[in-house]
Amino acid sequence: MKCSTHLNADATAVCIHCGRALCPSCITKSESGRVVCSAACSAGLLQTEQALQSLRSRSVSSVRATGYLAIASGIVFGAFGSFEFYNGIERLGYFLLPIAFVFIVAGVVYLRIAKKKQEHDTAA
Ligand SMILES: [Zn+2]
Ligand SMILES: [Zn+2]
Repeated sequence: MKCSTHLNADATAVCIHCGRALCPSCITKSESGRVVCSAACSAGLLQTEQALQSLRSRSVSSVRATGYLAIASGIVFGAFGSFEFYNGIERLGYFLLPIAFVFIVAGVVYLRIAKKKQEHDTAA
């Protein structure tokens, strides 16, 4: 892979924010010491890290509650969606089922975060 700025230099790293290929002279370090291509990517990365940090600093029980709430909403949407299919209002069903799916997936992700976090907290 070649550097995206210097086309005849070999890339040795990629910006972890935008994925651009970087040669040694293009590599910039973000505040947290990660490889980025520019100040803009460094700022963008910092924002992402802060968002993750705020999620991590929430208590396990609140993350888990959010997960259960999302799954419960998904089940409600799914039930309504299936009901509309049963009623012959398929367009509403096609609208509701993907929403149900997204809620359930988000809920599972939250529950996994809560589980990991709990393991981490008890280990520390
Ligand atoms: Zn970048
Ligand atoms: Zn370069």
